[in-house]
Amino acid sequence: MSQRTGVLLLVSGPSGSGKTTLCRRLARDGEAHYSISCTTREARNGEVHARDYYFISKEEFRTEAGVGHFLEHAEVHENLYGTLKSEVLEFLQRGHDVVMDIDVQGADQVRACEDPLIKESLVDLFVMPASEEELRERLANRATDAEEVITLRLRNALEEMSHAGRYTYQLISGSKDNDYGRCKSLLVAERLRVSRFRQTV
Ligand code: 5GP
Repeated sequence: MSQRTGVLLLVSGPSGSGKTTLCRRLARDGEAHYSISCTTREARNGEVHARDYYFISKEEFRTEAGVGHFLEHAEVHENLYGTLKSEVLEFLQRGHDVVMDIDVQGADQVRACEDPLIKESLVDLFVMPASEEELRERLANRATDAEEVITLRLRNALEEMSHAGRYTYQLISGSKDNDYGRCKSLLVAERLRVSRFRQTV
């Protein structure tokens, strides 16, 4: 058994802030398990079921919610998204760190969670675009989304950014490597908290 419990790193930020890339890179480098969410939205080009998301129907989503399989769930951009408990709890117990790409509503629900393991594991980070122009550009460069989707996402992004004050940590996005370096430093530091260690002496 690991000497410590895992860190649960919640990463939020508007679409186009680069948070998904950050989370994915932590997982690719073996730093944390990426919690694969369920969603009712259509898969984008190149996205793979059970790697990027579990793409499920609204009906399946409601069933999962009804039987209590979700740690949190929320409606984002007119689609449903949810984190499965099975993607998080066992990993933390085994001392693995978990990274979650999650919207502000979902982050609120995880913060309100009574489970002691979640409470002691939680670290929350908001990724802020450097400026509104930068965000606009990043969203427009995402060729995968239709114009009306981009407009909706921009509106939601500004709303989402107004919740950044609820997070303990904030990263103002710069270059991808620099963002990654800072995010990884946060994870490395959080692993050292005394409260995460199972006392053996
Ligand atoms: P996208 O459709 O661009 O992949 O994600 C849209 C939004 O949903 C992003 O803000 C992302 O962080 C959020 N999201 C992804 N997975 C989850 C989840 O499991 N729960 C919640 N609450 N939000 C999620």
